[in-house]
Amino acid sequence: MSNLVESIRSRYLETLEKIAVAARSVGRDPESVRLVVVTKAQPVEVVRAVIEAGAPILGENYPEESVKKIQYLGQFSAVEWHMIGHVQSRKAQLVAVNFNFLHSLDGLKLAGRLDRFCAEAGRVLPTLLEFNVGGEDSKSGWSAWDEAQWPALLEEIAAVIALPNLQIRGLMTMPPLGQTAEFSRPFFQKLKRLQAYLSSQFPNTDFSELSMGTSSDYEVAVQEGATLVRVGTAIVGPRQYKTEV
Ligand SMILES: *Cc1c(COP(=O)(O)O)cnc(C)c1O
Repeated sequence: MSNLVESIRSRYLETLEKIAVAARSVGRDPESVRLVVVTKAQPVEVVRAVIEAGAPILGENYPEESVKKIQYLGQFSAVEWHMIGHVQSRKAQLVAVNFNFLHSLDGLKLAGRLDRFCAEAGRVLPTLLEFNVGGEDSKSGWSAWDEAQWPALLEEIAAVIALPNLQIRGLMTMPPLGQTAEFSRPFFQKLKRLQAYLSSQFPNTDFSELSMGTSSDYEVAVQEGATLVRVGTAIVGPRQYKTEV
């Protein structure tokens, strides 16, 4: 194993161990949490090392960058590619065709486009609905800060659920940046309450996945019910370039 693979592997295993400890601390089965290693803005050699280190799920943000990596590393067909960042309308086709899972669906119009491209490609895309539970203008997602306004979300969510080529699987959030992991806890709790609310409103839809927690707060997220955590820098180190468009 190269040094790079070895160092990524030891941080990956350490993260899995911390997830397990956090899960057991609240009586959860560690197996109920999946770790997405976020490789956005990392060069392809690093992504390859993450795969060689044994990570089965990779998270990416920028469709064009990701598709190059997916094509280049295509021989690793066992790896799942998850889109975790905001998807611009004109990138919907790239996402519909290339990814195994979408964490960040944030609007009905985008949902309609993804559904159409999935239909053309003959695939069904497992998808999470992203909610902005912190109330910041800069964040993507359906606005869900004010619980009294949750009923106003239902019409659009129902329309998304009705799309045949998106398979709704749960909820995702990115809380406001805080100084400590504990700062994120109430936002994770709010997403969990929203999960219960949507499950009661749409009993035939699967909302079981909760994607929440990053390098700075994934243990708190696991304690609050995360089934997917998205950890980048704690495993692969600082991002090496910026490709946001
Ligand atoms: C970049 C990113 C992450 C990973 O953040 P780290 O601090 O590197 O762990 C997780 N989720 C989303 C949506 C991101 O954009």
